Amino acid sequence: MQKYQGGCHCQAVRYEVEIDVTQSITCNCSICIKRGSILSFVAESQFKLLKGAENLTDYQFNRNNIHNTFCKTCGITSFASGTGPDGIKMIAVNVRCLDEIDLHSFSPVEVDGKLF
Ligand SMILES: [Zn+2]
Repeated sequence: MQKYQGGCHCQAVRYEVEIDVTQSITCNCSICIKRGSILSFVAESQFKLLKGAENLTDYQFNRNNIHNTFCKTCGITSFASGTGPDGIKMIAVNVRCLDEIDLHSFSPVEVDGKLF
């Protein structure tokens, strides 16, 4: 686990997160394939929104169990949130949005999310 700060492109949305980026995934579900995000999942307690809650637009589809939040100014999805089957709230952090992240220092696992 390492502590990072991150956020959207225009800096309106900023957060701090304790995260293990070596556990990252890419996914071919209907939204990830278009967005190109690299995701790593953390418990809600590891994530702190520093600012920009009022700047987030919530996009939901399918079973509406994932909040695909994006910045209404710059359009970047820097994180999403959802509740797992066990009822625990999780945050899907877009690892690409972490400050000074070295994308070549780890290899995301490809997940077949086409069903989601
Ligand atoms: Zn923004």
